[in-house]
Amino acid sequence: MRAAAGFFVLAAVVAGCTTTQPLVQVSASLTTVPTPSGAVVASGVHGAPVESCNATASLRPSDVPGPAVQAIRQRGRLVVGIDQSTNLLSFRDPVSGELAGFDVDIAREVARDLLGDPAEVEFRLLTSPERISALQDGSVDIVVKAMTVTCARAEQIAFSTVYFDARQRLLVPKASPVRGPADLAGKRVCSQVDTTSLATVARVAPTATLLAVQNWDDCLVALQQGQADAVSTDDSILAGMAVQDPYLHLVGPSLEDEPYGIGMNKSREDLVRAVNASLERIRGDGTWLSLYRRWLSVLGPPPSPPSPRYRD
Ligand code: GLU
Repeated sequence: MRAAAGFFVLAAVVAGCTTTQPLVQVSASLTTVPTPSGAVVASGVHGAPVESCNATASLRPSDVPGPAVQAIRQRGRLVVGIDQSTNLLSFRDPVSGELAGFDVDIAREVARDLLGDPAEVEFRLLTSPERISALQDGSVDIVVKAMTVTCARAEQIAFSTVYFDARQRLLVPKASPVRGPADLAGKRVCSQVDTTSLATVARVAPTATLLAVQNWDDCLVALQQGQADAVSTDDSILAGMAVQDPYLHLVGPSLEDEPYGIGMNKSREDLVRAVNASLERIRGDGTWLSLYRRWLSVLGPPPSPPSPRYRD
């Protein structure tokens, strides 16, 4: 029996070594690689007018708790709308599995001031289009998700003072001839749906084809697979892609200012003032600088924290 079994094993090994298997045909064309799920070629995206209203001016800080802050304290945790796929700002640390990044730490600092403990945060993952509806229906207290303060958004939600000044730029392969928006004519440019970024590309490069995806990671993949010639969004987000791929770099001038604010429900004025008090503390006690150094130093030496503007 044992000898027979040995024979069959040997026969199988010999057959495996000598049989010539036909090679699976692999297409060299990158265009056969599927585009990221949910990616569409966007048309009819109207160029956004550059910020013209006073939306970056917020309510003066106050530590006096009102009904919104009291409700958060009673609950014992701050519910924060955030992203999980924006490297450097808010992403899953591959080792710990925890959310990490500049936006995550800003949210934790707000929790430290409201609840006395930066760990008392419950994160809810949101897509960019969900940021406003989640604030309006009360499913989150604050949104800290690379959210640019714009006039249109400020009609629907309240913003804190500006906590980071991003600038929209381009990310391209180092071998690409694209150096600025003038080189984008007829090229494919990737951005995320429902962002200021997509609208700005439509304005500065009207003849470019817009590839609109659901997550920023999808733009990185589309660029690496040759399905997009460039990615355009905030420098803070592009830098998070560039550090993951040494063949990519940021190019060109700033296409638009992208001042980030923390989003809140318009009816919760006491929360807006409390968050602005927290941001005052973060700017003044060196926390902002240490967070910049920890997460964003790839963008260059730390600037001063954005100066707050108030409208009351
Ligand atoms: N800052 C841009 C915006 O608020 C893009 C960032 C994003 O949506 O993730 O639309």
